[in-house]
Amino acid sequence: MSASRDPRTPLGPNTALVATGRDPLQQHGFVNPPTYRGSTVLYPNAEDLFAHRNKYSYGRRGSPTIDALTGAINELEGAAGTVLTPSGLSAVTTAMLSAVRAGDHFLVVDSAYNPGRHFCDTTLKDFGVETTYYDPLVGAGIADLIRPNTKAILTESPGSLTFDVQDVPAIVEVAHRAGVLVLMDNTWATPLFFKPLEHGVDISIQAGTKYISGHSDIMIGTVSANRDAWARLHNTHGNLGLTVGPDDISLALRGLRTMGIRLARHQETGFALARWLQSRPEVAQVMHPGLETDPGHAIWKRDFSGASGLFGFELREGYSQADIERFLNSLTLYGMGYSWGGFESLIIPFDTRGRSLPSRFKGRTLRIHAGLEDVEDLIADLDRAFPALRG
Ligand SMILES: *Cc1c(COP(=O)(O)O)cnc(C)c1O
Repeated sequence: MSASRDPRTPLGPNTALVATGRDPLQQHGFVNPPTYRGSTVLYPNAEDLFAHRNKYSYGRRGSPTIDALTGAINELEGAAGTVLTPSGLSAVTTAMLSAVRAGDHFLVVDSAYNPGRHFCDTTLKDFGVETTYYDPLVGAGIADLIRPNTKAILTESPGSLTFDVQDVPAIVEVAHRAGVLVLMDNTWATPLFFKPLEHGVDISIQAGTKYISGHSDIMIGTVSANRDAWARLHNTHGNLGLTVGPDDISLALRGLRTMGIRLARHQETGFALARWLQSRPEVAQVMHPGLETDPGHAIWKRDFSGASGLFGFELREGYSQADIERFLNSLTLYGMGYSWGGFESLIIPFDTRGRSLPSRFKGRTLRIHAGLEDVEDLIADLDRAFPALRG
């Protein structure tokens, strides 16, 4: 590589993941950007100190390591700017704090990631922000919920746990006509399978803990904004004093290089497991927007270029807690634990009590993250465990 790349030449997604956020010509030829640790940044002389003339001023305010990752995410998201946060949840809350203030009304999708919802019901409420939860299938009907003081709408598609697909472009159109900002938690699709800003969203959020990291070994969040929302996002993030350690950023950059091929595999295995589960007599329905039978399939097909490896399923009615426990304990290849997006397969039971809308499920519900194992082994493991459901 003897010449720098022309940033105006569009690249395929996997090429972009490999090429972005590093410049070997500036790194003494080393492939990866260096990991800068540091708080203090020295100024070369008193004149530059008084004039605040330095590319970097303080560790919390930016570093070449931070710039490598934010630059890469900007390129993937098509964003004016990106900030890094110490977790996906802090990415959600930072985006929220940048968008609403005392006296404002906030519309949040009922299927939003639950801890973000808790933040609305506690901290934002205490700070004088009123939140209304809306039906994920509302679409352009969101117009009826917008009040004179509504300042922002949070979308998440497909939603957490129940995988409801939202008509994001329809919501954006109504919101922008009313001068309302649109936020989206895009952790499920990543910008490889859905680009929020290209669909008109103002602020795109990712729990980088999941697919960017890909190895269940770090916690990190990214928040990216378009030109309209960048200044306030940047200010809020700076005021909160949020920063991420350089080693975690380097691991996120490492994860990013392989995110495309990992997602292709997560997608393929997720589809295979979802289809296999559909054929099981114990299963009432599978929640996976890539399946033709899924209620969100048409919008998913219109707006998304792929599906990740996370989906849900509902068992037929009548299974007890003990039945579920026997089933879960019979699995040998699926870990039981929170989070997802790593190389390993996971399974977790869930319920949606605590949401505003009544549950549409009668049977017990579980969520699977399809990992990078061989799909035959993953199916065989489920096949061996299902008889345990029946005692
Ligand atoms: C996991 C998750 C988060 C939070 O990320 P953490 O890094 O665990 O804080 C936010 N949104 C969605 C959709 C998630 O799945």
